[in-house]
Amino acid sequence: MRLCVADRRGELHVREGLRPAARSGALVVPLRDGDVRPLPEGATIAHLPGRRAIGIDAGGTAVELEERWLPVAAILPVGHLRTLVPASRPGPHAPRLPLFGYAAVAERGGELVAAALPTDAFAWWEPSRHTTAGLPAAVAAARRALPGNRLVDHLARCALEHRCYTAQNTFLRRYEGALPASPACNADCLGCISLQSDGEVPPPQQRMGFAPTPVELGDLAAYFLDGGEEAAIVSFGQGCEGEPLTRGRLLVEATRRIHARHPGATIHVNTNGSRPRVLERMIAAGCTSVRISAISFTDRIFRAYYRPIGYGLEEVVECGRLMHRAGGQVCLNLLTFPGLTDVPAELEATAAACREMGVDQVQWRTLNVDHDWLVSRLPELEPGVGMAGALGALRDRLPGVSHGNFTRPHPAAAGRARAGA
Ligand code: SF4
Repeated sequence: MRLCVADRRGELHVREGLRPAARSGALVVPLRDGDVRPLPEGATIAHLPGRRAIGIDAGGTAVELEERWLPVAAILPVGHLRTLVPASRPGPHAPRLPLFGYAAVAERGGELVAAALPTDAFAWWEPSRHTTAGLPAAVAAARRALPGNRLVDHLARCALEHRCYTAQNTFLRRYEGALPASPACNADCLGCISLQSDGEVPPPQQRMGFAPTPVELGDLAAYFLDGGEEAAIVSFGQGCEGEPLTRGRLLVEATRRIHARHPGATIHVNTNGSRPRVLERMIAAGCTSVRISAISFTDRIFRAYYRPIGYGLEEVVECGRLMHRAGGQVCLNLLTFPGLTDVPAELEATAAACREMGVDQVQWRTLNVDHDWLVSRLPELEPGVGMAGALGALRDRLPGVSHGNFTRPHPAAAGRARAGA
């Protein structure tokens, strides 16, 4: 393998004389053959401005390259887990990087390779199925069917301008429909993709600016679910909003409306897990599936990343417990970072929380944030065992739990429908 860098114009170069390096958290490590695989379809390559690239010399020492050579990174498509971050060191005026998940890259045998592991393949998310043909007509049809529903205009922007796949599917009436519910949040995550409170980087999605009513949410859900057999899940909690559980009784009311009209549908909520009492009432109203996001189940890391207001890990775990006891689906959206997720103490805490919450599926998500900045904001950690080792460890410790990337419809929903629940 050979070290790849970029010049200031963004052109890639292979550097002889140094071996490629990567990082696990703050620790520089050699990038080895077993760490990488050919760049997956849909990956893109980026250079990292304001940073020094790092390679490994013949003696095994990490050395910084001259300033004119910038580090490069791969941004992986969904369904792939980043296993190491690029070996870079920010200079004094380095700008904060946009919110992507940067993975280490090198060259091998004339092709680019990246530190990645495939974690899930689900037909709904195959790039070949991702078509925008017919999208403007589908948006126009939704506007005619739901006049005055503000969610239609909001999601039209997400679908047409931001190319959000879930928003597009909402109009195409297939797979998973988006029900963004809340403009507000009770956390201030370092990697929030809809609002960066210090304004240092533009978030890739625009936080919704209004609070939809239960009627707007219920009508959009009904329009989507009436679209045919391929419309299977409706999901509160999207990348363009805050925290849906902060909507309280109005979210419960929206759930009730959707369940009354489509008792067989999977009503799902993506959440930070902050308000178990709201989730409990949603479950009673027909919600059958939850995906709870967490970066860590150790308090100091959780608080440093989420900066939560008025809740803590006890509430997060309680949300899982409640859904599990009700017979619904519990997914953990594990926001992963090499050198954090794979630290032995973290793995123990994550496994214990998964058991306590009755997690059915762990979704291994690459955390999209400037890796240099994140390391500077979190407490120092012990070395990790590697992301492949972390995946293996959680597989071993959690028998019966599936590991992937995408939420599936929850079969209990179909069962409840057949029973006339
Ligand atoms: S919980 Fe979600 S919406 Fe709230 S700050 Fe974190 S990422 Fe953003």
